[in-house]
Amino acid sequence: MNSTVLTGCTVVDARVLDGVAPLRDAAVWVRGDRIAAVGPARDVLAEAGRDHRRVDLAGAFLTPGLANMHTHLSLSLPGQGGDTVKGLSPHDLAFYMADGARRTLLCGVTTVRCVAEKDHADFALRRAIASGRTTGPRVFTAGRALVSTGGHGHEGTDTLECDGADGFRQGVRSQVKAGADLIKVMISGGIAGEHEDIDTRQLFTDELTAVIETAHAWGRKVTAHAGPAPVIAEAVGLGLDCVEHGYQLTAEVVAAMAARGTALVPTLLVTRCKAFFDELGVPEWMQRRSLGAGPRHLESYALALEAGVEVLLGSDMPPFWDFEGTNATVRELEHMADAGLGPARALYAGTLGPIRWLGAEADLGTVEPGKYADLIAMDADPLESASAFRGVRWVMSGGRVVRDDRNGRAAL
Ligand SMILES: [Zn+2]
Repeated sequence: MNSTVLTGCTVVDARVLDGVAPLRDAAVWVRGDRIAAVGPARDVLAEAGRDHRRVDLAGAFLTPGLANMHTHLSLSLPGQGGDTVKGLSPHDLAFYMADGARRTLLCGVTTVRCVAEKDHADFALRRAIASGRTTGPRVFTAGRALVSTGGHGHEGTDTLECDGADGFRQGVRSQVKAGADLIKVMISGGIAGEHEDIDTRQLFTDELTAVIETAHAWGRKVTAHAGPAPVIAEAVGLGLDCVEHGYQLTAEVVAAMAARGTALVPTLLVTRCKAFFDELGVPEWMQRRSLGAGPRHLESYALALEAGVEVLLGSDMPPFWDFEGTNATVRELEHMADAGLGPARALYAGTLGPIRWLGAEADLGTVEPGKYADLIAMDADPLESASAFRGVRWVMSGGRVVRDDRNGRAAL
């Protein structure tokens, strides 16, 4: 069995918010795919015995891997870049997504929550990763997102059109049948729809109720693509578990979210990524709508923070995408930190917070014995700045080193 002791590191995780101080001159013993011990180097080395491999992290900060809660590995926005993805055959699409998954893991993103993927290829990808046939992050996925006929994102095979309460019940059940870990529903318009506005309401109350009740009956949480406050307020009252984007939040709706424990994945990048849109050839009308929503979007985020809403990291852009000198996941975390969250809470929003939402905290989210060894190392202190994650240079997933820049193994 793999037995590795990581030395020369400072262990930091989001328990710092509960007063658990970073552990300097630490060592972590990894046995098999899990963490066996964490503590002062001398103690851990004694416990690990003689028969182990030693990895000296040369003074790095060691944290849990990042979790990106708004991922599309088969994203196709309007424009020629998206058209290329849309035109892929099922076989090509599977390889395309596997490549994205591998790149994502190499960025230090060890868990993703997919919230609309094409053709159920996400379930095949999840199986392939779990069985070791391909390399990628742990995948939690919604399958296809539920949408009303003609609603947000209806153009792609990553959504499923449903109408009426019965239709939405069947929609939820069909995704659960395929293996969905959660349900994603589009309850308002968005940036990428030509025939809608961001504040277009798209589901009637009976449809929304049907989605949430059916999903909860099967033990699945529901997250909703949503912009406008009245639509979100209704969904929160009905038991919605998470809001994506939240472009137009108000003080009233964030108070309700905080009281009910509804999380927010703000995806701040979506309204501030002109270079990404240009790269994909996204049309002018969509760019205008997106970038125009930026200031209000940031205001919404500030209101949510003020109200104490739980905010979670999610990029919407492919998590690994090269963007403004880093990858989309880290750039989003920087935006979240800079716009009022600060580095310590950003660490929570990018690790333990998402893992708790996913109900996986027994296995993931902190550097503690018994959890999977999904760990990343960087030279700068993530409690000083979220930009520390720009320097991720070593990644371990389930006890296996998948990236080690100093050893020249930057890519798998
Ligand atoms: Zn999205």
